[in-house]
Amino acid sequence: MPSLSELGKLYPNSVKELERVLGRDNIERLANHLHIYDGAASSVKPVAKHVTIYWVGRTAAEAVIRTEGEDDIIVTRFQKGDKKIAVPTLTFRKQKAVLLRGFMELTRSLYKQHITSLKKDIFESKDYGKLYGKNYDFLTSCGISPGIEESRGGTGEMRCMKCPVDVLMGAVTGRAVEYNLASRVMGDPAFATEDRYRPRTGNAVDEVTYTTGMKGVKAGGTGALYTERIVEPGTLFIGKTVLFMPSPVELLYTLYLLTRVNRYGARRTIMGVMELHPVALVGDMFETGTAYAATEELLGVDSPGKAREKLYSYVEREAKASTTAVLVDLRDREGEIKKLRINNEDLYLELWRNTANYVMGISEYVSRGKKS
Ligand SMILES: [Zn+2]
Repeated sequence: MPSLSELGKLYPNSVKELERVLGRDNIERLANHLHIYDGAASSVKPVAKHVTIYWVGRTAAEAVIRTEGEDDIIVTRFQKGDKKIAVPTLTFRKQKAVLLRGFMELTRSLYKQHITSLKKDIFESKDYGKLYGKNYDFLTSCGISPGIEESRGGTGEMRCMKCPVDVLMGAVTGRAVEYNLASRVMGDPAFATEDRYRPRTGNAVDEVTYTTGMKGVKAGGTGALYTERIVEPGTLFIGKTVLFMPSPVELLYTLYLLTRVNRYGARRTIMGVMELHPVALVGDMFETGTAYAATEELLGVDSPGKAREKLYSYVEREAKASTTAVLVDLRDREGEIKKLRINNEDLYLELWRNTANYVMGISEYVSRGKKS
């Protein structure tokens, strides 16, 4: 169980930033539940350390919240008094996809900015040179390219297995690497506090004939009439994101990504924009509470301030039920989180060093297993 000064040895920059963002007292108390990856196989063995983050989301535009393969928005039924209520639900799969995409984009743009130092300190260094080698290039060797068939030059899920994104969010590859990486970012579906959605009928006009539903012109008629259900702007969602064995620098980047304005709707470019406000963070041996139970207590709440207050008291109660939990109030820290110096070079190098140490630990673990 590391102390703050031990964390500070390998993670000086992120510990300093965490102190500023969360408060020194808080990070000192939380240190026990954070993890150090030092390159040894023993540091990648699973231990009971979880950081659970609760947040209130608010749609800032109409949203069609669904997931691939679903035609309609996803709803979850809750019991409210003697009535049943079905509320829009944002699956964790969707949330994870948005986080993954955001982390990829961030890692890519910082990579370009700091490539010279990255090569010197990581890819071609004495310690990590063997893991990466001179030819390693994150921009060309790692990415998400679903939908492009291999025969057409795509590689499906092309992941390098040794970048910050893969190491934190998990990756599977068909290539000759002896390990797969499980995601250490987990979470619950986010549930709306109200049944605020309405059907909308749309009219897809045929581009050639400018008609809808004219039979006999084309197979299946021209254009189409369709109905979709829209989640209204201003709908509140209760969410929970969990980090398993996070190092200080991984916690820092996740907090930053979570507080970005994101798009969760189908049709990312025009719909589904959501603001996300962090409420509380709990470090403990295991996860704390569930978004479902929290939402049960918040059904009908329509003001963001009240939602944050009620959600905090739910989390506080759950944290108090455990003797090992450390609770941090994030309600007045959102501004500091948003001001994180995320493009700072030392911080970014720390993220990559953390990753290289993780991969080194895994490699040692795997090669040891082969000998026995
Ligand atoms: Zn990668």
